[in-house]
This record gives sequence, structure tokens and C-alpha cells, in this order.
Amino acid sequence: MVIGGGVVGCSVLYHLTKAGWTDVMLVERLELAAGSSWHAAGGIHTHNGNVYLVDLQRYTVELYPELERVSGQDCGIHLTGGLQLADSPGWMDWLKTVHARGRYLGMETELISAREAAEIFPLMDPSLFVGAMWDRHEGHVDPSGVVRAYAKAAEVGGATVARNTMVEALSQRADGTWDIHTSRGDVHTEHVVNAGGLWGREIGRMVGLELPLLAMAHQYIITGPVPAVAEYRRVRGKELPTVVDFGGEIYMREESGGILLGTYEQDHKPWSPRATPWSFGSELLPPEIDRIAPELETGFTHFPALADAGIRNIVHGPFVFAPDGNPCIGPVRGIRNLWLAVGVMAGFCQAGGVGLALANWMAEGDPGFDVWAMDAARFGDWATIAYTNAKVRENYSRRFKIAFPNEELPAARPLRTTALYDRYTHANAVWGASFGLEVALWFQDAGEEPAEEVTFRRSNAFPAVAAECATVRGGVGMIETSGFAKYRVEGPDAAPWLDRILANRLPRPGRITLSPMLNHQGMLIGDFTIANLGDHFIVFGSGPAEEYHMRWFLAQIPPDGSVDVMPLGLTMVGLSIAGPASRDVLAAVVDHDVGAEVLRFMDIKAMDFGMIPALVGRLTYTGDLGYEIWVAPENLRGLYELLLDAGREHGIRDFGLRALDSLRLEKGFGSWAREYRPVYGPEEAGLSRFVALDKGEFIGCEAARQEREEGPRRRLVTMVVDAVDADAVGDEPVWHDGEVVGWVTSGGYAHTVGCSVALGYVPSELADPRRRLEIEILGSRRKAAVRPAPLFDPHGIRMRS
Ligand SMILES: Cc1cc2nc3c(=O)[nH]c(=O)nc-3n(C[C@H](O)[C@H](O)[C@H](O)COP(=O)(O)OP(=O)(O)OC[C@H]3O[C@@H](n4cnc5c(N)ncnc54)[C@H](O)[C@@H]3O)c2cc1C
Repeated sequence: MVIGGGVVGCSVLYHLTKAGWTDVMLVERLELAAGSSWHAAGGIHTHNGNVYLVDLQRYTVELYPELERVSGQDCGIHLTGGLQLADSPGWMDWLKTVHARGRYLGMETELISAREAAEIFPLMDPSLFVGAMWDRHEGHVDPSGVVRAYAKAAEVGGATVARNTMVEALSQRADGTWDIHTSRGDVHTEHVVNAGGLWGREIGRMVGLELPLLAMAHQYIITGPVPAVAEYRRVRGKELPTVVDFGGEIYMREESGGILLGTYEQDHKPWSPRATPWSFGSELLPPEIDRIAPELETGFTHFPALADAGIRNIVHGPFVFAPDGNPCIGPVRGIRNLWLAVGVMAGFCQAGGVGLALANWMAEGDPGFDVWAMDAARFGDWATIAYTNAKVRENYSRRFKIAFPNEELPAARPLRTTALYDRYTHANAVWGASFGLEVALWFQDAGEEPAEEVTFRRSNAFPAVAAECATVRGGVGMIETSGFAKYRVEGPDAAPWLDRILANRLPRPGRITLSPMLNHQGMLIGDFTIANLGDHFIVFGSGPAEEYHMRWFLAQIPPDGSVDVMPLGLTMVGLSIAGPASRDVLAAVVDHDVGAEVLRFMDIKAMDFGMIPALVGRLTYTGDLGYEIWVAPENLRGLYELLLDAGREHGIRDFGLRALDSLRLEKGFGSWAREYRPVYGPEEAGLSRFVALDKGEFIGCEAARQEREEGPRRRLVTMVVDAVDADAVGDEPVWHDGEVVGWVTSGGYAHTVGCSVALGYVPSELADPRRRLEIEILGSRRKAAVRPAPLFDPHGIRMRS
């Protein structure tokens, strides 16, 4: 059963019928589209700051003709094309990056001058702009028509739609099925989808969930008749294109001879921040024109033709956001058969993709796309009401602001910190946040402000990060590793269970192994380090994926209690020391022989550091000689001081995540959510040596075997880039012979080897140093040479020494 007859719920219902589920029902407490859907401006576009959402938005836009065909309902499709206007060189750089990404995503965008833009949209004053991007896949639809079309198309496919039926409570039976208590009686169902839109939080609360959602009040105006609009129609015989003016923070389209103009105003306002009243129906909020007056003023300057048009109507309504502005979809960790389709802030651009992904997930067990960007599991319990409020407000006010690749946003911080927070702040750390946790990015020189300038080019972090890398490669550096996810796995069947969910063989007691985790389709859904501690295992993984991985673990765990998986979060924290002098530092603080033959590469042992009990694993992500040291939180500070003291004679210093990234790039080490994602198989990701096809059955083994037999179509490669002042950062297109053939997954400057480097996927036949590749960075194509081996220490001698 789908709860909620807005654009999202109706799309989920339609896609369930397309997946072959006909015994499906949607309940809507009022009329269809009675939430935020009916008063939307109906704007549609495919671009999104997150590349993984572009495909789903394109799918949504391209679905409308099919919907009209299947349902017989007019969706009011107007594909007018759209302009995105840049009023500063910074915005133009941003448009160049969007345009470049669009190339490998198959988007047909075009960069044009301000004068060319004014040819397309004569209402603008071109002297106030520096350029624009044209996308012919933009336009608008009729919101109510679209909702009705989804519902009718679903009914054609066998679904039932119950209007004026309010879900009042949900209760789950022991077998995982649900009793839905509605205003018109109870319904027993296997699955429940929360597509409650403005009431998504309230439906979540029916099952004890506090979802990270907040509605914002949003306004658009419709001007009176604009002579220039009528003139355009008369001369060109068509409608004006849609426009986004980033500098003015406004969006526009033609409406009834005038212009519909909306804004993401700075004087923004959450609506019903704690609970959405059930009494709210298909109504609008009273206009608050003063709150949007500054943006309107800019609009009337940028588009002088609007200045005298007057305002015919103001639409003011609420719609819901998640903290980062992307949807929250998917199953819920630990609650069977409950699905989320909430937080969809651009329903008319995204609902098709959301419906398709969720229906795939419910019917096939997998969304069929890389949906990490909208997976509800990207937030943990730390995303409280107050966190969500601060982040949603920040996100709303930044909707039309440039998102720089090195930018860290300030709202809701610091939230989670470890015992080193004050110490690192004192050491002039520049902070970032990951999964709600403060993480040191790099350390600014004493006396300088600990802040990074935001830019598409190399920032002021460059020399400091270079020095941190040099410390590691030349002596010893220390970095906090508390942000890793750690899971304790125990119980009589812990080993066979891990063996079934992981692709590699398990390590022997006292040893560590790397292992990918695959889904049933043989795609990468995890990249772990597994330590065998005799009576239990500790699995280390990516911190931001903790909720995502726990959801998968719990879904795979046998119900008989023979395996227990516990996320350790910040109850287990750590430091890593890395570099050629790290063994000397370690030897100075422990009472154990830590010689190369005793504590070998990939060994793990319990040791006391003075009075502090710790676990020491001999590996680091820097690809150098090094150790990860894990302790209880109350011992972290003591451990840090001890290592700092012992390291002083070796010139030890802190290094941050930016340096770690540079060090791993020059070793060609991939990273979760960058090189490793559910759209890649282990062969193409270069992880085949960690997939033990001969060990017996494990999840994804058949697909992995097939991938190995057939050979990968594309490969992850390291490329040295002929960059000038801007490195690749990820999502840039890779060119060969005048065609886009691949994309960058991450990049940066490799400080030890002194070159710009990028990791990315290219067709297998081009993964060859003799091929001439190029990477497009900020509008320029830069030579990129494939390197068959890691740039630093290609034979791995340092980490094994
Ligand atoms: C002014 C404005 C302009 C906008 N412009 C655009 C735009 O140009 N383009 C774009 O893509 N998006 C736009 N949006 C956003 C868009 O409206 C939303 O993304 C979209 O409506 C979200 O749809 P939904 O189905 O998630 O939620 P909703 O439309 O809120 O639907 C949820 C439904 O669930 C029902 N429901 C809730 N609880 C229960 C219950 N217990 N039992 C039964 N039924 C229940 C509600 O009655 C409601 O009908 C705009 C929004 C606003 C406010």
C-alpha cells in the first residue's frame, strides 16, 4: 500500500504496476495532489548538482509522453528549453563544470554568450550577465494533470486508488506484514510506502521514526501581462523558454501572457517545523511579499520588461526538504517491508525516477541505479529535528548559490566531535564534516586564519597539504581515523556468515584482509577491511555508509541469533601513524617487539600503549609503512599525547583528510562512493584480486564470475593530468579522439610525486598508456596519460617494509 496521493505516491504506484504488481493500492486522505503537488510551478529540468540524480531526472522528464499515452490524461507538457544565466565569472565556471559533466551523462547543453542568451530570452538585460547555458530538455508541466495521469496510468495497470481515506495508524504483525488503520477501515498489506509529502514525518512517527524532513514556505508571483511576452509569441510563434538567474536567485517561465517568477529567498521561513497539522488541506499560505522583495527587485533590474507588469497573483505554499535537498527513499534499517519516498523537493523533475527506483527495489530487491544520493540511509540518528532545521534552511538559502568542490557548509556544526576536537582546533585545524562528525581537513600555519578559500582551482590549502604529505613520506605523520565505520561481528556463525556476504576469503586469526561486498547483481556495495580477532571479527568500512551497510547486514542476518553485528560508531576511536619513521614511534611507546617480521603487514594485535589498551593493525590508507591504533574514546586523548611525545624526535605532525586523499591518489587506492559504487563490478574497479571465486558460494559470485570470464567493458585507471591551476576533482568527462569516453571519479594533486592526478573509468581498450586521453577541466581539455602502476612506490615496498 502506498500512503499519499501526491506526485510521488502516484508515481510509485504506477511504477509498481509496471513492475508487474497489480494488487496494489494507494490511499489519499483528501483528493489527489492535495499536499504540495497542486500548487507547484511545474518546472522540469534534468540537471542536478549530483550526477547520479541527472539520469533519474531525465527519466522523469522523458516519461511524460508515455504517461499521457497510457492514462489518456493531458500532462500539459511544454518543452520550451531553458536558460541558466551566469552574472559573474564564478557562475560561468560553475556552468562550465555542469556542461562538462553533462557531456558524459548524455545531456545536450550548450554554453553561450550573454548576447546569444538575450536572443533566446529578450526580456533580459545582457549587460548584466557574462554568459549562459542552454538546455533544450527543460520546460514545465501541469502539476495536477501529472498527478492524475500517474494515478490513472496505475489504475490502467490494475492498481486501486482510494481517495478521502486517511491512514490513522500502522501496526506490524510478527510475520512482517502490516495492518493499516484507515478512516474507512483496516487493510492488511505486505508492504507500506510512506509517500506522505508534507506529512511524511507524521507517518514516520506512526512507526517510531523521526525522519529528517522539514517543510519550507515558498512563493512565486505571476505578473500581469508583459508586452514583450506577447511580442515574442507574435514574432516567433512559440512560448518563451524557462530561465534560472542564479545571481538573482530566481526562476521564471511564461504564464498567461505574463511571467511566473519564483525565488529561493534569503529571508526564508520553515513551515510547521515540528508537526504538519492534519487540518491543513489544499490551501495556500497568506502572501508574504516583503520576504521576497529583495529578490524581486533584482529580478526587475535583470529583466527590465517585468518592472511595469504588476503582480497578478502570489502563490505561497509549503514543500518538504531533507537536509541536503535530495529525496529520502528506500527501505528502513531494522523495519521490514517499510519503504520511504519522502523529501522529494522537486517532484515534477524527480518523481518518475523515485518511483522507478523504489518499485525496482521493492520488486527486485535492488533499485537498479546508483541511488546513494537519495538513499535515506545517508543520514543517521544524529540527523535530529534541530539538525534538520538548520541544514534545510541553509540548503534552501543556497539553492541558487555556487557549490564549490572544496566547500564545507557551516550550519548545524559542530555536531559530533571526538576528544581531539579542542586539541586539533588549537593546532589550527580547518574542519570539515562527514556523517555529522567533525573531521580535520588540513592544518593551517600558526597565526593564520584556519579557513579554506572556496574555489574551483587550487586553494590556499595547497602548500599546507604539500607539507603534510612530505611529513608522511619523509618521516611520520598522524591522522585521526575515528570516522571510519566499525562493526563487531560475533556469534557461532559469524565466520560462515561473513564468508557468504563478502567476496574475499576471511583472514586467519590475528590477520587483516581487504574485501569487497557485492550485491546479487555482482556490483560493489561495500569495500571493507576485516580483522580476525579470534573470538570475533571487526569489519572496518566507510563512515558515511554505516547506516547503508547496517541495513544490508541486518537484511542478510539469520533470524536464529547465531550472528550478531553491532556498529561501534564512536565507541571505538583511533589514530593512524604513517611514514618510514612510524615503526620507531610505535616501538618507543609499546612494550612489544614490533619488528617487520613480528608485526607483519596486515597483522592485527592487542597491545598496551603505556596504560592504554589498544588494538594495532599494520596497514594505512596512505600506502606507506604505518599503523592504525584503536582505543576506547576515553583513551584517545592520552594516546594522541603519547604518540606526539614519542614522535617529536622524528618530526611527527598532524595531517588531515586532504593530505590523506593526495597520498591515496598517488597510490591509486580507490575510495567508497567515488571509485567504488553499486554501478561498478569488481573487475572494472580493479579489485579482482580481492574476489575469491574459488572459495565457494557468496552473494554476487555468479555475476562476478561472469564479469571475470567476459572481461570488464571499462576499467578504473590512474591518469596523470596536464593541469595548470585547477585539478580534476571528480565528475569531469574524459575525452578520446574528440569524443567523451569516460569520467573522472576523483582527482587532485599528488604532492610526493609532484603531478596532477585523476582516477576514473574509461573503456577497457583505452586503459592503455599509448592512448591519448584528455580530461575537461573548467572548459579546457587537458592531456591525461594513463599510468599502469601506482605513481608512488609501484611495488608496494614501503607498506610491506
Ligand atoms: C510554491 C511551490 C512551487 C513549486 N514548484 C515546483 C516546480 O516548479 N517543479 C518541481 O518539480 N517541484 C516544485 N515544487 C515542489 C513540489 O510541489 C513537490 O516536490 C511535490 O509536490 C512533492 O510531492 P509529494 O507527493 O512528495 O508530496 P505531497 O504533494 O505533499 O503529497 C502527499 C500526499 O499524501 C497525503 N497524505 C499524507 N498523509 C496521509 C495519510 N495519513 N493518509 C492518507 N494520505 C495522506 C496528502 O494528503 C498528500 O496529498 C513546488 C512547491 C511549491 C510549494
